Amino acid sequence: MADNETFTTTNFIHNIIEEDNRTGKHGGSVHTRFPPEPNGYLHIGHAKSICLNFGTAKKYGGLCNLRFDDTNPSKEEVEYVDSIQEDVRWLGFDWEERKFYASDYFEQLYQYAVQLIKSGKAFVCDLTPQQMREYRGTLTEPGKESPYRNRSVEENLDLFERMKNGEFQDGTRVLRAKIDMASPNLNMRDPVIYRILRASHHRTGDAWCIYPMYDFAHPLSDAIEGITHSVCTLEFEAHRPFYDWLLEAVNHPSRPQQIEFARLNLSYTMMSKRKLRALVEGGFVSGWDDPRMPTISGLRRRGFTSESIRDFCDRIGVAKSNSVVDYALLEHCIREDLNAKALRAMAVLRPLKVVIENYPEGVVEELTADNNPENEAMGHRKIPFSREVYIEQDDFMEDPPKKFFRLSPGQEVRLKHAYIIKCEQVIKDETGKIVEVRCTYDPETKSGGALSGRKVKGTLHWVSAAQAVKAQVRIYDQLFVNENPEEGDDYTANLNPDSLITLHDCRVEPNLAKAGVGDHFQFLRQGYFTVDRDSTSGSLVFNRIVGLRDTWAKMQKA
Ligand code: ATP
Ligand code: MG
Repeated sequence: MADNETFTTTNFIHNIIEEDNRTGKHGGSVHTRFPPEPNGYLHIGHAKSICLNFGTAKKYGGLCNLRFDDTNPSKEEVEYVDSIQEDVRWLGFDWEERKFYASDYFEQLYQYAVQLIKSGKAFVCDLTPQQMREYRGTLTEPGKESPYRNRSVEENLDLFERMKNGEFQDGTRVLRAKIDMASPNLNMRDPVIYRILRASHHRTGDAWCIYPMYDFAHPLSDAIEGITHSVCTLEFEAHRPFYDWLLEAVNHPSRPQQIEFARLNLSYTMMSKRKLRALVEGGFVSGWDDPRMPTISGLRRRGFTSESIRDFCDRIGVAKSNSVVDYALLEHCIREDLNAKALRAMAVLRPLKVVIENYPEGVVEELTADNNPENEAMGHRKIPFSREVYIEQDDFMEDPPKKFFRLSPGQEVRLKHAYIIKCEQVIKDETGKIVEVRCTYDPETKSGGALSGRKVKGTLHWVSAAQAVKAQVRIYDQLFVNENPEEGDDYTANLNPDSLITLHDCRVEPNLAKAGVGDHFQFLRQGYFTVDRDSTSGSLVFNRIVGLRDTWAKMQKA
């Protein structure tokens, strides 16, 4: 995918826009918005919405606003506002000077509510929440009109103003739109549009003790900003009639059009901000950016690139019906991206010492290794070789089964970029644990040398013992064991106890000593890794992003 090009495909929303542009419906302009509620960190589902909103605007030469939907004061925090901006920018999108807050419109929204009252389209209702539920009716039965529904305009104006002035207790009165209690759509049965709530707001402080409901604030915010296409997820489909009713009722000159699409669901992944917050607050993860979290900050820390996430959002497409995307596709996207760009390196995660008996003591040879076999332009690097090297414990078996092509007594393997070695002897400690393997090497088989073509069945990665750098490596697995983490009544029961395995005694090639936080590598035969922010100079910490085996590509071929 070309840099920063969001859509290589087209979708039904684009079709609607092209039709609108043809008919001149919105004067041919495209203005979208991404409207997060700042009550948590953004997740991969939001990435879909961000790519769709910003990407669509870009595709049609339009604009996209960032708008914080901060109508719910008790749950919102500045930390979230900051993290959301960082994440949208990191994904590669720019709202320019168009950063807005629904709370910027509180005064305007209040005036719209007054206008509704004046035109007889809203009333103050004193029913208790319990009564309101009873009056609401059900999907099969119509609701009942509130006894307060026919208050005079004057009384409504007076009461609403007194609500605003703090004369009534929280929850004792609400402002409701006056629509139709018999409507088959429950959202049209005189929905609440304002409530009394004494809560400090992160931007407006204690200026207000009444707050507009989301369904009231959202359409008007869209209209105020001149949004043309208000793209949202499917659960708002039944709210669209109220969206349209409201803009008609206040006779707004701007008429954004709400279009619903299916939200992203991802296997093994839970996306509700509320529940993700519970994982953070419950100490089940180390924070919002724990590399196991599906948050954008977690994915970034894990080592996902913004290109891979945009590519993922492009590939999943935009549909009208809900489905679950296989997590393996996300992994496929990062493998594709890093296969092309990541430097290759050698790292031994569970070291086993190999002593090459016929290699001279005290000699350190510089061997040449390619930085990326997929990309010659990435060049070469030098790696030291000496008499003592480390290989993976897994790559040696004293008593191997038939098809074990790695190292075992009497067997030969190639050390990548180096020589062919042969196992001569196994050394154990008093408990019987293998602590060292003694080998000989064939000096004629040096990589690139005369006999470099000699075939052996296995090739192992390794590092030179004296020069290798110690490192910690964190191996991650899915945070949940269930494909659907919310199965059962307690999702914390579905947490994977092995989602993080920390290896404390790894050895990486010395070139990695100067790696910086966020650098990406492919460790040969191990997968893709990045340097975690827990690294300090002299103590490297790597996150494994993903292993090498591409289960998604396999499924496509099958
Ligand atoms: P959550 O329950 O995870 O907090 P939300 O929909 O309440 O989700 P908002 O902050 O209101 O979160 O969402 C901002 C925008 O992102 C909305 O337009 C919403 O529809 C969209 N969005 C949220 N989750 C997804 C998802 N899983 N897939 C696609 N879009 C999403
Ligand atoms: Mg929400």
